[in-house]
Amino acid sequence: MTVDARKETRGFQTEAKQLLHLMIHSLYSNKEIFLRELVSNASDAADKLRFEAVSNSDLYEGDADLKIRISFDKEAKTLTISDNGIGMSREEVIENLGTIAKSGTAQFMQKLTGDQKKDSQLIGQFGVGFYSAFIVADRVVVTTRRAGLPADQAVRWECTGEAEFTVESVEKAERGMTVELHLKDDALEFADHWRLRSIIKKYSDHIAIPVVMQKQTPVGDTEKVELEDEVINTATALWTRSRSDVTDEEYKEFYKHISHDYAEPLSWSHNRVEGNLDYTSLLYIPAQAPFDLYNRDASRGLKLYVQRTFIMDDAEQFLPLYLRFIKGVVDSNDLSLNVSREILQKDPNIDAMRSALTKRVLDMLSKMAKSEPENYTTFWKEFGQVIKEGPAEDFSNREKIAKLLRFASTHTDTAEQNQSLEDYVARMKDGQEKIYYIAAENFNTAKSSPHLEVFRKKGIEVLLLSDRVDEWLMSHLQEFEGKNFQDVGKGELDLGKLDSDEEKQAQEKVAEQLKPLLERVKSALGENVSDVRITHRLTDSPACVVVGQFDLGAQMRRILEAAGQKVPESKPIFELNPEHPLVKKLEAEANDSRFSDLTHVLFDQANLAEGAQLQDPAAYVQRLNKLLLELSH
Ligand code: ADP
Repeated sequence: MTVDARKETRGFQTEAKQLLHLMIHSLYSNKEIFLRELVSNASDAADKLRFEAVSNSDLYEGDADLKIRISFDKEAKTLTISDNGIGMSREEVIENLGTIAKSGTAQFMQKLTGDQKKDSQLIGQFGVGFYSAFIVADRVVVTTRRAGLPADQAVRWECTGEAEFTVESVEKAERGMTVELHLKDDALEFADHWRLRSIIKKYSDHIAIPVVMQKQTPVGDTEKVELEDEVINTATALWTRSRSDVTDEEYKEFYKHISHDYAEPLSWSHNRVEGNLDYTSLLYIPAQAPFDLYNRDASRGLKLYVQRTFIMDDAEQFLPLYLRFIKGVVDSNDLSLNVSREILQKDPNIDAMRSALTKRVLDMLSKMAKSEPENYTTFWKEFGQVIKEGPAEDFSNREKIAKLLRFASTHTDTAEQNQSLEDYVARMKDGQEKIYYIAAENFNTAKSSPHLEVFRKKGIEVLLLSDRVDEWLMSHLQEFEGKNFQDVGKGELDLGKLDSDEEKQAQEKVAEQLKPLLERVKSALGENVSDVRITHRLTDSPACVVVGQFDLGAQMRRILEAAGQKVPESKPIFELNPEHPLVKKLEAEANDSRFSDLTHVLFDQANLAEGAQLQDPAAYVQRLNKLLLELSH
């Protein structure tokens, strides 16, 4: 006996135990999905065998007829799912069936809400398919042999859904994997031919290899019956069928198979491209973002097939990063079966496919935005932030992406991001040349910013930006339909034709008159400001701070600093509202000390309104209190 043959007992990781427990106790509402998960795994295993056999046909061991077999024994209360796919070695069994979903399990556990319905959706999304066996079984026995290994190097894995599992070496003549489920008493309904048949039809019809069950047929007029194999599913790769032959239900189930998502997709697009390049693509837009959308090393990309043979998961070369949430399949007739990730990176044909697929997704989205606005709203909530990465990454599609963007704006004044740039442009005032926006740390700061006062007074719409990526996005967008973007918190206010000539003359006159005041304020604030000037952007507030036209905005500055970058220092411009009583009071103030206090208080307040932190909050409080006391005398 070799050392390997020893029976060993191993414990699950802590998170795995919790997850297993949750799985067993919370997925009761939809028990039958365990079969979909196990059949889906068996089909993946067949894909993997075909792929490895491209370079080593010995792996077929003389049997290239891949299938999945389902059988049951009512008396023994067992249900068995077998495949002749790639199988697993002992190490692979321990790695794949002993860890539960590997990376990110702890992160996932934190997302659970306690709401069974929501949690069970999350579980599906997390891809713990195999363990769904424990929804219906209190004991699961897996026997498996990896293709190419000798018969005595098969493995038996057994688990009762508790903290431990055992592995031992056994003999198995056929390669592949057999899962034997010992059904719980409340799951005996699954030891039934018609029930199983209908579940397979419902969830697994799209599986590309045959799913087989034995059927009893009477022999002539005798009492005898004969057992006959019956293929339950359609058993052709779904994307090879013509669109009109595939029902919506089938498209949806196929999505669940490839994405491990419980929820239905929002939309899909199935296309055959012929000519220079010859390929089929089936792309899906999910309805919910995966929990690891922002993980740098989260899996992304399409499933790649070459002439119906599975080549790899997560082929990320076919779509840009900002479309990383798209799920789907691409099946090429041009690529070699030996294609590798390295080759994909260099192949110029891949670039052509990538731009075609990118265009397809963008078209799908703009179609959804027009004809299914509710779905688009859902989409934007889940993936809008990622789409905002688009203009920077994909310059050539900038205009298309810009049309997909949605923003909050002073048009509605709600935090909901539901205004498009096209809507904005259609509402622009006569003589308005720019698209105005404000960027702040959060929605309320943006919405209440003093910078908006003159815009509100004149009824000019301003986009309210408060996502982390927004300023960065704007720096790449630059213009939309020939209109430049202008941050209302940056540079000198120039409303162009929106201000009349009389208004402009009056403004210049006031600026001239108040020159002495501005000098005095400037010397009181010293190093804190780069300039002090009169403004007409304010109606209610006495003052505000502005960033130079070419300086970094506050949001961008914070992002860069957080990333450890050195950001050049820039001082704000302090602007005063000449109409405001406090500014008039300041002008009339003869006492230098009180002038300085009031100036500093106004300056600090202007910074607070921007959502900034004060350099010396205690000094602000002291000055303010001093002024309050004087008031009461
Ligand atoms: P997922 O399928 O999401 O990776 P599962 O828990 O369903 O997660 O399966 C874990 C792993 O176990 C799979 O990734 C695969 O490597 C292996 N596995 C599961 N079922 C089979 C099978 N029938 N044949 C070979 N390997 C399998």
